[in-house]
Amino acid sequence: MKKAKIAVIGSASMDLVVSSQKRPQAGETVLGDSFKTIPGGKGANQAVAAARLGADVFMIGRVGDDSYGTNILENFKRNRVSTDYVEPVTGVETGTAHIILAEGDNSIVVVKGANEYVTPAYVEKAVPLISTCDLVMIQQEVPEETVEYVASICKELGIPLLLNPAPARELSERVLEQATYITPNEHESEILFDGLPVSEALKRFPNKLILTEGAKGVRYFNGESEILVPAFPVKVVDTTGAGDTFNGAFGTAIAEGKRMEESLQFANLAASISVTGLGAQSGIPMRAEVERRLA
Ligand code: ATP
Repeated sequence: MKKAKIAVIGSASMDLVVSSQKRPQAGETVLGDSFKTIPGGKGANQAVAAARLGADVFMIGRVGDDSYGTNILENFKRNRVSTDYVEPVTGVETGTAHIILAEGDNSIVVVKGANEYVTPAYVEKAVPLISTCDLVMIQQEVPEETVEYVASICKELGIPLLLNPAPARELSERVLEQATYITPNEHESEILFDGLPVSEALKRFPNKLILTEGAKGVRYFNGESEILVPAFPVKVVDTTGAGDTFNGAFGTAIAEGKRMEESLQFANLAASISVTGLGAQSGIPMRAEVERRLA
């Protein structure tokens, strides 16, 4: 089978994860138990997911000219994601997420860094590549103007666009119309549709709006009725990045020409497997594993 060709326009960051018994109060210093640096960012996670799940993936993003940026580029290469369109920004730091795991919960400070430089002008340089892709994927850790620009060029070029509206932010009616698939979770859907009941939001965008509902699976409206595609029951270890695996897998299946329901089953299975492993990227399965379980 011909591999699907996908461009992912989005963030690439380094997660700096400290685990500690106690969360420090303002002005306090505490001793931690461990520290890890883990490549992340929704764009990078979704690109790695699509590559592991069988697509030819081109990342369109930016890192800083620091060691985190170098590590992120190496991680893309290990996962066979093309970095031809990941240009380091001189004098700017790589995007980082500073995560404290303490007292059974996490607190996070995000510094956007080089991800702010994924501008419309930067993406424009990749239009010759984009125009040869089967699908484009984007999320919302890049500037709002970039999402608007990408939605309009995809429409103009006739390339399907999978928009994962995370983290939550409002979207213009024009972007909602131009995107081919939109995949909010329950919280993002509330913000996108201003509290409109889920069934009404789904009806407004048949075969386009796909609501992810964690362990329940996903819901969409097929033009006649609302369809629930159930997730697979698994023993949960860490749900971080479940949405990213879901999007990478769904994008890959759709770009291969699979139908909606089959693509959603494939994505549910890949995402369900991903929650049985620790960390966002380390839990993302390879294509062969998903196919073995589907058989
Ligand atoms: P996250 O922010 O944790 O990455 P999300 O909030 O964007 O995830 P969810 O709706 O929680 O997205 O999950 C996305 C998909 O992952 C679900 O539709 C489902 O396929 C799978 N999934 C998530 N949680 C579970 C679970 N507990 N058991 C099985 N599958 C799950």
